[in-house]
Amino acid sequence: MRIDLHTHSTASDGTDTPAELVRKAAAAGLDAVALTDHDTTRGHAEALSALPAGLTLVTGAELSCRLDGISMHMLAYLFDPAEPAFLAERELVRDDRVPRAQGMIARLNELGVPITWEQVARIAGDGSVGRPHIASALVELGVVPTVNDAFTPQWLADGGRAHMPKHETDPFEALRLVRNAGGVAVFAHPAASKRGRTVPESAIAELAVAGLDGIEVDHMDHDPDTRARLRGLAKELGLLTTGSSDYHGSRKTCVLGEFLTDPEVYGEITRRATGAFPVPGAGGA
Ligand SMILES: [Zn+2]
Ligand SMILES: [Zn+2]
Repeated sequence: MRIDLHTHSTASDGTDTPAELVRKAAAAGLDAVALTDHDTTRGHAEALSALPAGLTLVTGAELSCRLDGISMHMLAYLFDPAEPAFLAERELVRDDRVPRAQGMIARLNELGVPITWEQVARIAGDGSVGRPHIASALVELGVVPTVNDAFTPQWLADGGRAHMPKHETDPFEALRLVRNAGGVAVFAHPAASKRGRTVPESAIAELAVAGLDGIEVDHMDHDPDTRARLRGLAKELGLLTTGSSDYHGSRKTCVLGEFLTDPEVYGEITRRATGAFPVPGAGGA
């Protein structure tokens, strides 16, 4: 089984619609794919309606969290999307995205960059607006050569000249919300140091005690040494380890299925979840 548990569609900052994404996932030979847009489940209905035979959809979301001033992402799988407390928190985070993007645009204007809200809104389309959309606008304007070049202290990296923090959930609160909604929580790319400061191992240990299910180990932002270290840490803490592409369509370089999750781990995630269940494509496995 080929299982990719972390992807983004146009419901957040990916470039494929949810329907395109599941078709590409099937074409890439995946058996199961998780749609984990930032702070929203908005893409799930379209992905489900377009789900090809033979592909199973794992519903999920990637939550924006902050611990001691450090931004971190938490993947939540197979939770009940209608559970009110968790739904309210996702809406709070998402509603903060527009004023935050507008704030970053204002800072860029102060820095002499002629970026406009109209331009960023056009790039974001129906998606939850975020930094990658602003980064794409900076590429369009010729300010930086690639989206990745915008994620530097000079521009949009955490603490960068044009960066503005957003509302982010305390990860211990996120764990409580995810579990109350019947979901399973996996700390996304916990050691992706290129994105900014990462939380210490001691914090991962505390999260494990608080109910974290696993950590994402095989991810493009982790080098082989980091993966080995994280695997050891997970073993020590009794955490599951996942692998996934963090696919964003053409906005990032990773491809669907570039990293995969072990079928046994996938089985354990689906066994623990009580809020929702993986959905096989019509006529599929
Ligand atoms: Zn992430
Ligand atoms: Zn992601």
